[in-house]
Amino acid sequence: MGVTKERTVLYCIHCQKETLHTLTYVGGELQKIKCTECGMEISFDKKQMLLVYSEDLVKRILTKPKRMSKEAFSDLSSFLKSLPLRIATKPARIVREVKDLLDD
Ligand SMILES: [Zn+2]
Repeated sequence: MGVTKERTVLYCIHCQKETLHTLTYVGGELQKIKCTECGMEISFDKKQMLLVYSEDLVKRILTKPKRMSKEAFSDLSSFLKSLPLRIATKPARIVREVKDLLDD
């Protein structure tokens, strides 16, 4: 599966301001984002997200847009502002199984 990295300005819930983030897409789907200022990383768990958000919204947020439009980013940015941390934070048990997410 192809891994794509994009850099863009997004709202960081830790810095509480807009900062430059690295977005990692695997197979065209957003896997994680990382704030380049504080280093906080959010891994997206699609299953968890689907418990709270509609499939349409989850798809829109996680699928790499063909073009990095302003709309796509403002979607993602406002989503992050409303994101309950528990959705983005994997339980330790799962994190151990997904070791590459811990690699810095
Ligand atoms: Zn930050």
